[in-house]
Amino acid sequence: MDSEATRKASVLFDTLKRKVSRQQFATWFQRTRVVAWKGGEITVGVPNRFYQEWMQKHFIGVVAEAAGEVQDAPARVAFQVLDEPAPDSPAPEIAAPSVSATPAPQPAAQPVDDGRYVPTPFVGSGAHDAPLRLNEHYTFDNFVMGPSNSVAYAAAMAVAQKPGRAYNPLFIHGSVGLGKTHLLHAICRDFMRRSPQDRVCFLSCEEFTNEFVQALGRKDLQRFRDRFRTVNLLVIDDIHFLEGKERTQEEFFHTFNQLYRGNQQIVVSSDAAPSEIPTLEERLVSRFQWGLVTKLEQPEMETRMAILRRKAEIRDMHVPGEAIEYIADSIRSNIRELEGALLSIQARARVTQEHITLSLVKEALAGSASGTRKVITLDDVVGLVCDHFQVRIGDLRSKKRGRSVSEPRQVAMYLMRRVTKHSLDDVGAFFGGRDHSTVLYAVRKVQSRVDEDQRFSALMDRMADRLGGR
Ligand code: ADP
Ligand code: MG
Repeated sequence: MDSEATRKASVLFDTLKRKVSRQQFATWFQRTRVVAWKGGEITVGVPNRFYQEWMQKHFIGVVAEAAGEVQDAPARVAFQVLDEPAPDSPAPEIAAPSVSATPAPQPAAQPVDDGRYVPTPFVGSGAHDAPLRLNEHYTFDNFVMGPSNSVAYAAAMAVAQKPGRAYNPLFIHGSVGLGKTHLLHAICRDFMRRSPQDRVCFLSCEEFTNEFVQALGRKDLQRFRDRFRTVNLLVIDDIHFLEGKERTQEEFFHTFNQLYRGNQQIVVSSDAAPSEIPTLEERLVSRFQWGLVTKLEQPEMETRMAILRRKAEIRDMHVPGEAIEYIADSIRSNIRELEGALLSIQARARVTQEHITLSLVKEALAGSASGTRKVITLDDVVGLVCDHFQVRIGDLRSKKRGRSVSEPRQVAMYLMRRVTKHSLDDVGAFFGGRDHSTVLYAVRKVQSRVDEDQRFSALMDRMADRLGGR
């Protein structure tokens, strides 16, 4: 684009900022840019087909109006998808849903639980299946939208409304406690309400794996296959668990293909994007990219506050505004922890029989795991690393060499430096009295791999995440 077009584009965005809400701008316009401005025709580049349809439906008028003001003449606007991986197979077009649509009443609620959800292995809504056990609170209605999650939310609604025809598969990723499971439950619930005759299967990837392994053991694959390959909606939570499991990946791949061919909807969640799950087969990565891959980001202050208000309302708690603000400011990266904080506050208010005030909140948070960050120990790190690399703690702490132990050992050293406050000497001492320069060497070596290798870097992020110390 020439400099005149660039200038107009920048004025256009300033104008748009005034015409749409801050949240709309952050959600829908932050990731767009003007790619051409010729005569009265403006082409706006958007990240994917979902954005394209959405913007076409909701924002074309306002963008044309703003562009008209900028060039002082009527403008025509088109949205164009930029650098999206080309789908290997065409997906049918649909219109994006309206997020503002009021959700219909939910089916009969189950007994109130404490907010925790106990997964059940296999569930379905067909007559011959066990009833689907969903957390009654995990509905679209109870999901608070903000710039960090509204694309994922809208996509989840689209999928529940037009299963198999909107975005297939839908891949929702994001770090722990940001609402992946909540959205998956909401999809199942909404889907079942719309098509009570259809079969839904919701399970964690771990359960899928276990069932598969058991079926293998029983030499009864056919039944396993019949069960999974005949559903209308397959929802698998925490698909990153497929990491390193070749046979289960293979089985899932065939399940995927069969359902996809029959236009049945597939929804998965993961703690990383498809391409960032180490050892996930290329063909599965590309399958996942056929549909829509969308990320749940960490919620902003306003969203955290809105979530707290909603959760307090659900629990019938009266929490004053300043207290909400204090909690939202103390806990930033994980919504589950925000909820945990509310629970400890509620417990404290019950015990002391006081109203919830800012000072009660401060006291409650000071004493709870959610308020003060849990201290991560060297043992925590080594435990996770041994789990991941399938090595023994004893070997890691011994003088043993060889790649199979030295690599995990170096990773452990790196993570220790990253997520704990221990010194190089502490870490060296932990590993059987190695000196601090050995530790430093290991840390640098792992760091340089992190810098070069995106997948490895994502793995380190996730391990740090799981330890709770990003
Ligand atoms: P994940 O599966 O990503 O680890 P969950 O879906 O279990 O996270 O969410 C953790 C908790 O946070 C749940 O209780 C969920 O209801 C809540 N939560 C997450 N995002 C939202 C949101 N946008 N609005 C309301 N509650 C949310
Ligand atoms: Mg989850």
